Amino acid sequence: MKAMLYDAFEKAPEILNLPDPTPTDDGVVIKVGATGLCRSDWHGWMGHDPDIRLPHVPGHELAGEVVATGRGVMRFKVGDRVTVPFVSGCGHCSECHSGNQQVCSNQFQPGFTHWGSFAEYVAIGYADTNLVHLPETIDDATAASLGCRFATSFRAVADQARTAPGEWIAVHGCGGVGLSAIMIATALGANAIGIDLSDEKLNLARACGAVATINASSVADPVEAVREITGGGAHVSIDALGHPVTCFNSIKNLRRRGRHVQVGLMLGQHSTPQIPMAQVIGHELEIYGSHGMQAWRYDAMMSMIAVGRMAPSKLISSRISLEEAVPALMAMDRATAPGISVITGF
Ligand SMILES: [Zn+2]
Ligand SMILES: [Zn+2]
Repeated sequence: MKAMLYDAFEKAPEILNLPDPTPTDDGVVIKVGATGLCRSDWHGWMGHDPDIRLPHVPGHELAGEVVATGRGVMRFKVGDRVTVPFVSGCGHCSECHSGNQQVCSNQFQPGFTHWGSFAEYVAIGYADTNLVHLPETIDDATAASLGCRFATSFRAVADQARTAPGEWIAVHGCGGVGLSAIMIATALGANAIGIDLSDEKLNLARACGAVATINASSVADPVEAVREITGGGAHVSIDALGHPVTCFNSIKNLRRRGRHVQVGLMLGQHSTPQIPMAQVIGHELEIYGSHGMQAWRYDAMMSMIAVGRMAPSKLISSRISLEEAVPALMAMDRATAPGISVITGF
């Protein structure tokens, strides 16, 4: 199979021909139809993720068709169109038994713990616990975007933050995660504020439903700007970027008893950011992480997409080839193009 592989961190990945994968007893092999390019792939390539063993094939947001199944797989067959959460649970540990496969202690992560989907084929373990059947109405490129950013945002906004109709939600960073969070919060009836440094991204935030936007470079203090718009602070705030500044602001701009959800990854030198803990205590703030979403929660998300309440296809800004993904991956630390890039040419 054709695949993108790197054998050293921070060294340019290559497009190579590698042996086709075979399924484990509890796994499947998927012919990749589309796979999203995400900042987490950049973190992995930089060596920020301790799970990655070299040489490595990245890619964790995928959709495609099952082409081979292991002997123990009961719920999926060759020809099924599927996607999979980027954190896949083992199905056997106590976290999985409690329905929290997203924090499984033996998790399978394509593109991190195992080779991923920047390839013609990808092997996925624990298939019965994690694969999700795709309806015909959701194409591969849209479904690929659900595997990480949109699903993680759905869990962050709907499940972790318990965002309610009429509440104010501040979304710091309007890349793929942030735009997803704005779209989901709007569908749930909340009032979303998009915050970014790029007017182009803020325009997209408004197109996704944001009722207000703040360009953090043109106001004296984004925290005060959020307090003013919301009349005292946001009920919910999301750091969708993953940076010490956006993390701090996202907690600081909450109203009393507000909920912050950290979605953007904080790795490497950013892993221990400053937090306004006196305010967390005095105002009884709640702080959550959000890391993927269980396969069984996809039903709720996909039914909202099916009836037109959310349109994640709007977030896709470019469809690129595997070759074009090499420079795009390496450039993800710099200011990226608005929206989500999806690899659809192999
Ligand atoms: Zn488990
Ligand atoms: Zn991702």
